[in-house]
Amino acid sequence: MAQRSLAERDQAVIWHPYTQMQTAAAPIPIVRGEGVHLIAEDGTKYLDAISSWWVNIHGHAHPYIAEKVAEQLRTLEHVIFAGFTHPTAVELAERLLAILPDNQKRVFYSDNGSTAVEVALKMCFQYWSNSGQPRTKVIAFHDSYHGDTFGAMAVSARSAFTKPFEQFLFDVEFIDLPNAENITRLKEQLSAFSFQLSAFIFEPLVQGAGGMNMYEAKYLDELLMHCKKEGILTIADEVMTGFGRTGKLFASDHLTQQPDLMCFSKGITGGTMALGVTTCAGKIYDAFLSDDKLKTLFHGHSFTANPVTCSAALASLDLLLKPETIADISRIEESHRSFAARIAKHPKVRTIRQTGTILAMEWETGDNTSYFNSLRDDLYNFFLREGIILRPLGNIIYIMAPYCITNDQLKYIYQKIEQALEQF
Ligand code: PMP
Repeated sequence: MAQRSLAERDQAVIWHPYTQMQTAAAPIPIVRGEGVHLIAEDGTKYLDAISSWWVNIHGHAHPYIAEKVAEQLRTLEHVIFAGFTHPTAVELAERLLAILPDNQKRVFYSDNGSTAVEVALKMCFQYWSNSGQPRTKVIAFHDSYHGDTFGAMAVSARSAFTKPFEQFLFDVEFIDLPNAENITRLKEQLSAFSFQLSAFIFEPLVQGAGGMNMYEAKYLDELLMHCKKEGILTIADEVMTGFGRTGKLFASDHLTQQPDLMCFSKGITGGTMALGVTTCAGKIYDAFLSDDKLKTLFHGHSFTANPVTCSAALASLDLLLKPETIADISRIEESHRSFAARIAKHPKVRTIRQTGTILAMEWETGDNTSYFNSLRDDLYNFFLREGIILRPLGNIIYIMAPYCITNDQLKYIYQKIEQALEQF
């Protein structure tokens, strides 16, 4: 009997994320990663222009991270993190706090972006309940995305993704992204609810899954200043924007105001292993200090601060902070800027926008929504055939590549985008 392929074996046993299993094409079997490339079973090389769900920042199977992880695996693979500690967790917390906005004083570990957000929300709700003045409402942006667990879903825009769960999602007030025209109205909206508002959660500068929507730091600063005045806690969800994506180490580095809490995941380990981190200002942490045990933050995961995961994050930080990597980030930024200027006037380009290393363009679709639907798949398949992984969000294609991508590789992606502009 002929051996079944990896894709066939997969299809017999696996349920994939965000995938309608009845109609989905067979998954592409990837057996190896090397730099910006993912290599399929049949030898096809794919240029990973979306960093494998936005996680990879230094290239795949990076030998330095692999070495550090292997070393840690042979030393200590896991230890319960209640009542115990270990060197990589402590070193990572020290090194993170040293590069984060200086009001961030404590590090809480979990294991993905959604849990980093859950922890931040629980810290905020319990901050208010520990302080004897419970507040239950949250403010978030329209089109926001903060994750797929229930709390993270609650603060994400209501959409097809959240529809079956809507009745279980807690009370959230959604506001528009701020700009020169609406900033005064937004502040009034915040003030109207302020006494009930526990927290304001936002993706700083770039909304990822909501369509790579970008907005200006100065208006976010104004909102944060207003929250401070009204006593509303602020949570910067840097799960996607963290670790260099926006041209600075953190999107919050573009702001004058500092958020009370911050959430990280994805690039934190260079995309090697699953890690979530929530950091907070001293006043949040202090609100949980008490002789009353009920004021404890009762939250933790089996793999909280896993030593191997922390070692991957430390190795990734070593690479990220090298002058060469910082120079790569500027180089990508510059390269995107000239490409954007070159195609901005193309009739098929409705809008093109850039923040740091993230470039997003909206395809002109007219009003035809059925065309719009097939366009997404047509573009996705076109780029795959050309050996590039670009996964459009509807009619928006974006590049978010590992920082080790070369100028020639960028040029190849741009060329193929220009070809697609002529073809679709
Ligand atoms: N927050 C933001 C801004 C994200 O982009 C994502 C994931 N795309 C999440 C949270 C959730 O992260 P995870 O998928 O690791 O749960």
